[in-house]
Amino acid sequence: MRYISTRGQAPALNFEDVLLAGLATDGGLYVPENLPRFTQEEIASWAGLPYHELAFRVMRPFVTGSIPDADFKKILEETYGVFSHSAVAPLRQLNGNEWVLELFHGPTLAFKDFALQLLGRLLDYVLEKRGERVVIVGATSGDTGSAAIEGCKHCENVDIFILHPHNRVSEVQRRQMTTIFGENIHNIAIEGNFDDCQEMVKASFADQSFLKGTRLVAVNSINWARIMAQIVYYFYASLQLGGPARSVSFSVPTGNFGDIFAGYLARNMGLPINQLIVATNRNDILHRFMSGNQYVKETLHATLSPSMDIMVSSNFERLLFDLHGRNGAAIAGLMDSFKQGGGFSVEQERWTEARKLFDSLAVDDAQTCETIAEVYEQTGELLDPHTAIGVKAARECRRSLDIPMVILGTAHPVKFPDAVQKAGVGKALELPTHLSDLFERDERCTVLPNDLKAVQAFVSQHGNRGKPL
Ligand SMILES: *Cc1c(COP(=O)(O)O)cnc(C)c1O
Repeated sequence: MRYISTRGQAPALNFEDVLLAGLATDGGLYVPENLPRFTQEEIASWAGLPYHELAFRVMRPFVTGSIPDADFKKILEETYGVFSHSAVAPLRQLNGNEWVLELFHGPTLAFKDFALQLLGRLLDYVLEKRGERVVIVGATSGDTGSAAIEGCKHCENVDIFILHPHNRVSEVQRRQMTTIFGENIHNIAIEGNFDDCQEMVKASFADQSFLKGTRLVAVNSINWARIMAQIVYYFYASLQLGGPARSVSFSVPTGNFGDIFAGYLARNMGLPINQLIVATNRNDILHRFMSGNQYVKETLHATLSPSMDIMVSSNFERLLFDLHGRNGAAIAGLMDSFKQGGGFSVEQERWTEARKLFDSLAVDDAQTCETIAEVYEQTGELLDPHTAIGVKAARECRRSLDIPMVILGTAHPVKFPDAVQKAGVGKALELPTHLSDLFERDERCTVLPNDLKAVQAFVSQHGNRGKPL
């Protein structure tokens, strides 16, 4: 399988190289040159497969030529073997024909484990084969950091540096990162905000001389392998609800358009999906596009669903590429005007095309709390604030009651006690067994000033399993 850039000017890469790449050299994002397509019979024959076996069938075409089948199978069995629920991604019914797909049974209790547990293992496999080492420098506002550290902690060939804004992530989120020890794991608390952290990561990708020749790898959802891993659970959910004979709809709490883009790909690979609902919080750039064809940057608001607090959705470029007939020059132009002036709309027929599949809703903090309280009252299920946004959007935007509606449950409520408390739900939140002593564990973290040079110096001094590069 070959991968091409959404801006049309970078060389095509194979899976291995795309795994190790950040942005394409032209500033675009990599996508498969040809998406695999499965027949209905083929998809139907996968009913009842365990998660890792379904994962093998769905993802196999993407890695062909880079990873032999037997190795890929083994990697997937290991990856999804660490999840604490034997179904890996169980469905839970909320209401008539309404379901939550629980994606929070991985080590860090958010859906990001599905991709990052796999990414760590794929990196180690590919690097071992090539006899190379890499450095990861990533920024997190919460969930990505812990999932990336958990995913890479056993990697022989990866040193990982995660930047988080000092004193601005929740205690559970911080401890999920700082209590994991290893000579290749480095937590850095930056005396700044999340944007400062992200800017430093971007600047480090732009000029990698401080790495003395070691390659820098991306762990955010611009990395194709993350999107790829997320396609699988759309198939998994559908097969349990009568698919592919029956069409299914999904509501997806989204920020960077990564998770929902995976659903869009699943549909293009042959899975009958009736409707995809973009569920955002007050940071609603995606909702403004879907509802009014305006893609315009606005100021950032801190919300009760911090993992979706973004101003710009990086993966949206991947959808725009398809909407524009995969014309890289057109995307380069759009992105350029976005950078210059802050916004664009697309031609009416392109927007109408998108709206055949996508609906959207922006949900504020008050509605998020109302939904958590309402669902708890009706069913006894406690939702995390991100999932609650998905439920609210599903109920508002649903086109047909006859088609099963699946809301992606993106995190465990214990990660977001503030929202649960504000919702007035009296239930005590308990950490799952593997994290029950989280608050007693020792922490390891380095506080650094909001200064790129200081961070890069730290990375180059510790980037080789704690030793200088
Ligand atoms: C990262 C995250 C999201 C948003 O995912 P995108 O891929 O950015 O759309 C939603 N909910 C939770 C809990 C997350 O951690």
